[in-house]
Amino acid sequence: MKNFFKKIGRKIKANKKKTIIISCVSFFLICVIISLSLLGAFCFNRFATGYVPNDAQLAVIRNNPENQYKRVVIIGVDGVGDYFSQTYTPNYDLMFSNKVVNGTQINASITYRGVAVYPTISCENWMSMFHGVRPYYHGFLFRDTNQRVENGEHTDEKKYPSFMSEYLKQYPEGNILSVCTWRGVNNGIIEDNERITKYNSYPEDVKQFLENYVTDDDDPAYQTASGIMTVVDKTQKATVSTTVRDNIPGIEGELYDYLSDQVKNAGYSDETIEMRDAMTMQRVITETVTDPDKYQIVYMHLDQVDHAGHAYGYGHSGYIQAVSRVDMLIGRLYTAYEQADMLEDTLFILCADHGHRKGGGHKNHGMNTDLEVNVTFAIAGKTVKAGKPGKYVNTDLAPIVAYALGVKANKNWQGRVPYDMFTTLG
Ligand SMILES: [Zn+2]
Ligand SMILES: [Zn+2]
Repeated sequence: MKNFFKKIGRKIKANKKKTIIISCVSFFLICVIISLSLLGAFCFNRFATGYVPNDAQLAVIRNNPENQYKRVVIIGVDGVGDYFSQTYTPNYDLMFSNKVVNGTQINASITYRGVAVYPTISCENWMSMFHGVRPYYHGFLFRDTNQRVENGEHTDEKKYPSFMSEYLKQYPEGNILSVCTWRGVNNGIIEDNERITKYNSYPEDVKQFLENYVTDDDDPAYQTASGIMTVVDKTQKATVSTTVRDNIPGIEGELYDYLSDQVKNAGYSDETIEMRDAMTMQRVITETVTDPDKYQIVYMHLDQVDHAGHAYGYGHSGYIQAVSRVDMLIGRLYTAYEQADMLEDTLFILCADHGHRKGGGHKNHGMNTDLEVNVTFAIAGKTVKAGKPGKYVNTDLAPIVAYALGVKANKNWQGRVPYDMFTTLG
């Protein structure tokens, strides 16, 4: 053995130049292999697979009323990742189950292994979901992206239109509703268009909301004078102690004192975010049930799960409570649609931008771990194929909604309609 190494040592000395070249080349090759595998993990996982529906496939929808929906309702749950699979959510389970409604067969398709785009930041992902392309293309990548859309910065919407403007282009009579607890989506991600009605539920609205607040100790949900109820009932009492001031910048002074008193007196101590989500949902229900034919695409953005993720982290009891409260809101929507006979004409979608790591903290999503990357994608309607769809990536939301309404996909979209999601596509 000793001789063997001596021999090699002698050889290296004799061929110094050659050895250096060989070492450099090997080092270079190893670097290339490592970079390629990292690139694979980061990028190739985000490449969509599935259909780009052609005219004949779209005609199956456009020419057959039984394949058409009156509306697509999209429930965006910020930061929930795959957590709908991890906790008790009876209303979500009901909405996304196979059933017969008034003689119409409705099927559900769910995956908890949807793939968020990288980085797993809200703006990057919602922008990709609405505009069908990965962040490098829509241009919102790393640099204060959430603030930029909150401030009203948009992507190149001519080149990468959202599914909403593609719908409006192809249906000149169409109208869209978007109600958001996180203003970033309405302010910067969705195009400004007179046929897209936008509402944001601001912290200031909570004051108005609370002014109408009539507490009734015997009623688990407090009924307000205007018929709006808060989402929190006494069995869902939050045990956490974050304050309005910690979580909603801009609420100070009198309004802060007022809100904290109200929150304390109401017997729970989360923050205005849960009430803002309740207002968002209530607005969606009111606007769509009172005029069921007005909006063909309805989007809502619920934000409390993301706030709980930052405050406590994935899987913490505070996070679970936030998911439960969102589930109660989903129940309210489902019941309202059931009573209004709107279930069979609706395509429901629930989607998420990203998940959260455990432990909480200001920046506990943005990386590439499974808990951050895996997202829920659930869809239920009469053209849905029951079970689990093929691979879903967040860029797929745009082509999925477009296809469901018989709208041609934009040629620049990178998202696809996943395999095995619709019976009409085979
Ligand atoms: Zn988010
Ligand atoms: Zn977040």
